[in-house]
Amino acid sequence: MKILFLDQSGKPGGAELCLLDIAKPYRDHCLVGLFADGSFRNLLEENQIPVEVLTTDQIQVRKESSLVQGLSSLAQLAPLIAKVMQIALNYDLIYANTQKALVVGALASFFTHRPLVYHLHDILSLEHFSQTNRRIAVTSANRFASLIIANSEASKAAFVEAGGHPEITEVVYNGFDSKIYHSSESEVSQIRQQLGLNGQFVVGHFSRLAPWKGQHILIEALAQCPEEVTVILVGDALFGEQDYVQRLHDQVKTLAIETRVKFLGFRSDVPLLMAACDLVAHTSTSPEPFGRVIVEAMLSGRRVVAANAGGAIELVEHGVNGFLFTPGNSQELAQVIITCLNDREKTAAIANNARATASQRFDVANINQQIAQLLMRLC
Ligand code: UDP
Repeated sequence: MKILFLDQSGKPGGAELCLLDIAKPYRDHCLVGLFADGSFRNLLEENQIPVEVLTTDQIQVRKESSLVQGLSSLAQLAPLIAKVMQIALNYDLIYANTQKALVVGALASFFTHRPLVYHLHDILSLEHFSQTNRRIAVTSANRFASLIIANSEASKAAFVEAGGHPEITEVVYNGFDSKIYHSSESEVSQIRQQLGLNGQFVVGHFSRLAPWKGQHILIEALAQCPEEVTVILVGDALFGEQDYVQRLHDQVKTLAIETRVKFLGFRSDVPLLMAACDLVAHTSTSPEPFGRVIVEAMLSGRRVVAANAGGAIELVEHGVNGFLFTPGNSQELAQVIITCLNDREKTAAIANNARATASQRFDVANINQQIAQLLMRLC
């Protein structure tokens, strides 16, 4: 089966990293078409996945755009749609991985009679999307897609609540290669030394820096924890949230905890950095559609604490394979950190249990098999 994957981003967010794993088995007969250039293209190339940047024009429509802005951007999209249509003729199926890819892919699918799959990586709530964008996504998916793959029950529920058709929507979790998440003791002690983390209880946060990812909640919690607790913030502002980055630096300064917070920027060695942590915190203030980081922490055998909402609830069972806290509640988060600090043996056992179950549940080979079976039905 020849697949044309479409993704609007040049940067490797969670949706793009998920696509990377899905595209690997199709590398000899697929193309990933991107609507922006960036390090995601390099990542695809490093993995021998054919990739083409289909436009370098910035698509103006944003998640919160109005109808007028949406319509004017459609005119702007015309050359891109024409290009995608031409390419799609050489493929059996169009696989849209993001919202703008859905809109472009929907029109290309209509004119080329190629089935369309939409991989939904978002919770289509009004908190994150304008009414117009939500309507465009749901209408395009209902009208043109033969299959919608939702990355969690939470994403599916929000899609259905917004008017999406449940009968064509299947939930498939992200898959992971658990081998990647095993680091040797010497590698771990080397990176801890390099980062000046020796003797510290390290809490890691791995996410782009954005207000709803809640790094400020973790910093607030840190200020309530003993001195030996240190935070590493791994990730960068991917979509222009520079003001928030400044706010985080100011917050750290005001709380006088500069020596206990390390901003590491975007890193491509997440598994090693996770192995260097004692606890991984996932602190989104709005419901997270899936939360790759939560599974990655489990596969790394690290304790994990996540905000009790969205897809995270499907991944974490409090006290069994991790910990949950009320979104935005830094006192509760601090309490979990202190529990993990004081009761290392019991909480490490919980992390070990999580590693065993996660490596089965999210095995990339199984997940890719599930997707292959769904796609086979369409062709
Ligand atoms: N990530 C990364 N480098 C960083 C920060 C994050 O590779 O510096 C990865 C992280 O390991 C995870 C993904 O980016 O696989 C983020 O996915 P998630 O579902 O947690 O959030 P999203 O970006 O989809 O909102």
